[in-house]
Amino acid sequence: MLVRVNCATICGSDVHTWVGRRIEPTPCVLGHEIVGTIIAIGEAVAPDLHGDPLAIGDRVTWTLAASCGECFFCHHDLPQKCESLLKYGHTKALPGRELHGGFADCCLLAPGTGIVKVPASLADELAAPANCAVATVAACCRLADPLDGVVAVVLGCGVLGLFACAMARALGAAEVIACDVAPAREKIARAFGAGHFAAPNTLLQTARALSDGRGADVVIELSGSPKAVSLGIEVLRLGGTAIVAGTTIPCEPVALDPHQLMRRMLTIRGVHNYAPRDLVAAMDFLEKHATTLPLELLNGGSFPLTEIDSAFEAAAAKPGTRVAVIP
Ligand SMILES: [Zn+2]
Ligand SMILES: [Zn+2]
Repeated sequence: MLVRVNCATICGSDVHTWVGRRIEPTPCVLGHEIVGTIIAIGEAVAPDLHGDPLAIGDRVTWTLAASCGECFFCHHDLPQKCESLLKYGHTKALPGRELHGGFADCCLLAPGTGIVKVPASLADELAAPANCAVATVAACCRLADPLDGVVAVVLGCGVLGLFACAMARALGAAEVIACDVAPAREKIARAFGAGHFAAPNTLLQTARALSDGRGADVVIELSGSPKAVSLGIEVLRLGGTAIVAGTTIPCEPVALDPHQLMRRMLTIRGVHNYAPRDLVAAMDFLEKHATTLPLELLNGGSFPLTEIDSAFEAAAAKPGTRVAVIP
């Protein structure tokens, strides 16, 4: 399926690659948070993730990776770790397979890509982050399930952390505590549904005060800081679950006391990429909450594709927003 790119937003991982903190095989077309319009369809194209047929002219987004459906990991509910995974915007361009990134006019979708139609109510710039930021958060929330009635801590108030606050609240969390090293993030965290905000050095106290001294039921780590992982484990209640999804580039190891892990019966789960059903959840979430969430606060502006260097400079200068690139 060939898609004309309407808009691709610059993810934090694109910025990591652009500055050299993350290495991608080259040549490579970056950009994976994409909304586009179908302009050509091959033979026997699968329906979208809702089971609806796809047609030329449909406005769509898709999973950040295509998986084979047949390997060991695909058969073990880890399609996002498929042995022959094709990751849009992160893969070396090969002859005949050059068009796999969003910072381009067109993108060629491979078999095994999970596609969803974008609701008419969502603008391209708002829908593009669904297939990375929001779907990753949906995967975190799925693995932290149940969130209903829990005391949840979200570590890091970047774009993913903000969506995690909003989604935890929407899934029924009784208390959502956002934590960030930057006090200035409090206002936006509260706007996205956090009922409480704590600096790292007051988080333990805040979580205990809201849980009869027990600590947080669930911690979702989206800051990328190894220190935050340690803090997240410390703040958990007995039997609590930590979801680790922020450390997308190699980092320092953290100390883990196995005795504590055992006695406190903790669960620690890593999340990387996500499964197709998480994209469905992300798009449903966006459609339902787009009018009530202050999504405009995430808007880092838009640039034509011909000014992509300026777009990356803007994205690097404004973490916590999404800059759109429009062909
Ligand atoms: Zn991304
Ligand atoms: Zn596979």
